Amino acid sequence: MHRVFFNPFTGLYYIVRRKPRHAPVTPEVEQLRAQAKESLPPRLKELADEHGFTYNRVVVKNNISNWGSCSSKGNINLNLRLVTLPQSLQDYVMLHELCHLREMNHGPRFHALLESMCPDHRALEKELKQYKIR
Ligand SMILES: [Zn+2]
Repeated sequence: MHRVFFNPFTGLYYIVRRKPRHAPVTPEVEQLRAQAKESLPPRLKELADEHGFTYNRVVVKNNISNWGSCSSKGNINLNLRLVTLPQSLQDYVMLHELCHLREMNHGPRFHALLESMCPDHRALEKELKQYKIR
């Protein structure tokens, strides 16, 4: 996702976005992209409806810098490699990005929001870290 820093002087969290790095396009990537475009957007819509979120649009991306991201314009980007992860982790990443529609940070309110819809988010985040984006 992205790196979050806490500034003790201002008491604010801020997010440093890493420049998206794109992965080379191979037949395997194209196959995953097709799979991802078919399965990720409907699932995101389902989770958004279930939890009362509205987003602008969703884009499936071939990048190696994050699993997902959310812009202040309400656009959600999802990494096409998400389809290689267990469904529980795919859902976690999508819920995480949906929560950023309301809280554009990783502060206490963000975690409380995420916790209310995904009680085991901390364990899932740990599990996700075991997967490298390649
Ligand atoms: Zn995040």
